[in-house]
Amino acid sequence: MAIQILPARLANQIAAGEVVERPASVVKELVENSIDAGATRIDIDIEKGGSKLIRVRDNGSGISKADLQLALSRHATSKIHTLDDLEAIMSLGFRGEALASISSVSRLTITSRPAEQQEAWSAYAEGRDMAVSVKPAAHPVGCTVEVVDLFFNTPARRKFLRTEKTEFGHIDELLRRIALSRFDITINLRHNGTPVRQYRRVPEQGDPVRRLKAVCGQKFVDHALRVELTHHDMTLRGWICTPEGARQQNDMQHCFVNQRMMKDKLINHAIRQGYEQSLAPDQYAAFVLYIDVDPHQVDVNVHPAKHEVRFHQARLVHDFIFQAIFDALQQASSPVLEGVDN
Ligand code: ADP
Ligand code: MG
Repeated sequence: MAIQILPARLANQIAAGEVVERPASVVKELVENSIDAGATRIDIDIEKGGSKLIRVRDNGSGISKADLQLALSRHATSKIHTLDDLEAIMSLGFRGEALASISSVSRLTITSRPAEQQEAWSAYAEGRDMAVSVKPAAHPVGCTVEVVDLFFNTPARRKFLRTEKTEFGHIDELLRRIALSRFDITINLRHNGTPVRQYRRVPEQGDPVRRLKAVCGQKFVDHALRVELTHHDMTLRGWICTPEGARQQNDMQHCFVNQRMMKDKLINHAIRQGYEQSLAPDQYAAFVLYIDVDPHQVDVNVHPAKHEVRFHQARLVHDFIFQAIFDALQQASSPVLEGVDN
């Protein structure tokens, strides 16, 4: 066969295979875009576990009419311009392919108004070449992305969707993690028209434990120790549960590197080691930890879904985390010394 360039939609559908696994992956990409746009409030509406509708509405910076078409094109991003930008990345997105991918496997409409524009505009991509049509719309400052009939044109993918309840469960779990990553953003989740979660933003001087409890529950809060440690340009903050707060599953292990949620082997190993003998083999630690490092020290471009990182100084990071956890648990288990200020 002769070599041909793939039509845009097909190329995007192939890329979608990597990032758009299920409705929760769509929610992740859209909510991360809202966060990158500086939103302080994000409303998520789901119908039928996300297979019928996923709508994410935010009050962020919005997209100008001139940029709407680009927002739907592959490899189009406002977040990085050069390799240097990538190496110092602080935004959650940078690949510039989420919207293009999602719109190739659904009916996606994006409606937006940036503050400097008087009217809102709405765009969607059609046909093999995904030509974008733009129409006037009504919308306050911010952005709404509506994804209807996910995988309607990729039957193989659609077949892999689980029940409405399972898919919604994944979305709910994802949003718990996101709610933990940014206490300063209000997040509302509705399913089939019914409000399911309302995470109210915690103001700067507010009490973070309120949100922690809303996401992780009373038991977690009851057994949580606060950790905070800095070593050179590395900071570890958050909460870890004493062994009394251990779980039967690894469902309460939340870790964020530069506000990005991570499931990282190195970090998990360091934490497990920090708990050392204090957990039985069938027990799992419960923690919510935030690691902040110089973005030059990590590579987030390891996996398209971006839940793995590579630390340049892996050993150092490992030992730092291990020591922080170990010390915090030791301190909590040893009797408080008389006469020491606290
Ligand atoms: P990436 O996030 O990697 O840049 P996306 O395909 O997710 O790629 O988004 C493409 C571009 O569209 C973004 O770089 C951003 O400029 C714009 N965009 C997407 N969603 C929003 C939003 N909710 N608010 C403002 N701009 C957005
Ligand atoms: Mg994005």
